[in-house]
Amino acid sequence: MFDVEKIRKDFPVLQQKVYGNPLIYLDNGATSQKPRVVIEKINSFYSLTNSSIHRGIHFLSEQATTEYESARNRVKEFINAEHDHEIIFTAGTTASINSVAFSFGEKYIKAGDEIILTEMEHHANIVPWQMLCDRKGCKLKIVPIDDNGDLLLEDFEKMFTPKTRILAITHVSNALGTINPVREMIKTAHANNVPVLVDGAQSIQHGVVDVSDLDCDFFVFSGHKIYGPTGIGVLYGKEKWLEEMPPYQGGGDMIKNVTFEKTTYNDLPFKFEAGTTNYVGAVGLAAALDYLTETGREEIEEYESELTGYAHGKLSQVEGLKFFGTSANKIGILSFLIDGIHQYDAGMIIDKLGIAVRTGTHCAQPVMDHFGIDGTLRASLAFYNTKDEIDRLYEALLKVKQMLGT
Ligand code: PMP
Repeated sequence: MFDVEKIRKDFPVLQQKVYGNPLIYLDNGATSQKPRVVIEKINSFYSLTNSSIHRGIHFLSEQATTEYESARNRVKEFINAEHDHEIIFTAGTTASINSVAFSFGEKYIKAGDEIILTEMEHHANIVPWQMLCDRKGCKLKIVPIDDNGDLLLEDFEKMFTPKTRILAITHVSNALGTINPVREMIKTAHANNVPVLVDGAQSIQHGVVDVSDLDCDFFVFSGHKIYGPTGIGVLYGKEKWLEEMPPYQGGGDMIKNVTFEKTTYNDLPFKFEAGTTNYVGAVGLAAALDYLTETGREEIEEYESELTGYAHGKLSQVEGLKFFGTSANKIGILSFLIDGIHQYDAGMIIDKLGIAVRTGTHCAQPVMDHFGIDGTLRASLAFYNTKDEIDRLYEALLKVKQMLGT
């Protein structure tokens, strides 16, 4: 039985008041809050285990290395990858995508080649590919969306040519909440001999992700959006690609042998982990994944889906409120505007009532351009949010309308 009140007690940050009101945190798409087990794990690691990994023969170094490598194994199990060495620890989704865009680009992309993205990508899955295009003279092709925020799949299927080298697509849109049919899209791409990178920054925290079942070539996500620490992220890549791709950064740990004449690179996964990595972040991330597994990933998905339906129903009762992102298949991201009210004005009033929502373009400017707007208010839900909090958001929006005279 999913007990949200019990779960809320695991998150210290949720226990506080903001401007005299109980905090209602609805900015989970930007970053999520941390359960006590994650905070305590980081504390105990720094208190008892901290040491540089892979390099020392002393007790602490061996312990830290063991914990780091078992965190890698934990991630591998969580996403059902085939091998531990297919899990690369990075600083986050952005770092993971930059790494693939550089390394894959160096190896496989030349002038005139094509990369397929979608109109609903986060800037992190646009700009690294644009930078690659500037370096190599390749070009981007963009799958358009309709006004519900769904991809136009017929257009997508016609986009492949012999020059298409990679498809990079978000699993879930951070601005609209749409869950894309990535499994089918990966099949189409593979039928055209094109590998696929899936940006999982907004999907992995909301349900079960199985990279073997998806058959994606790369899957990336950030620790901080899945109740883990910030500054840690994951790049999953199929062994065959990671073996062939050159490293992204040079330095310690990614080498086997260095002379001034020639350097040989380390085996996977270390080839892609130059320098002292965020090993504390990795261990904290593993604690977050354990917490989610114990809470029940299917139960979380079910609870969030019900809460999302409730939130849509409730907010649609606000006169003049318009949703952006009305796909039949979506997660708990509610992007909206209220007639005649600027998002920043509404966001500021709501904040004073203790409610944290996001305002702006959500780093997805092309989505805003599609709808001809300069931003939205965004309430993004987590499994510790409640119907009562949605009711308070609803009341706050009525107050906004009353105060701004519409
Ligand atoms: N992709 C998507 C879909 C996102 O929502 C985000 C974060 N808002 C990112 C990429 C970038 O993640 P990070 O800032 O953690 O690197």
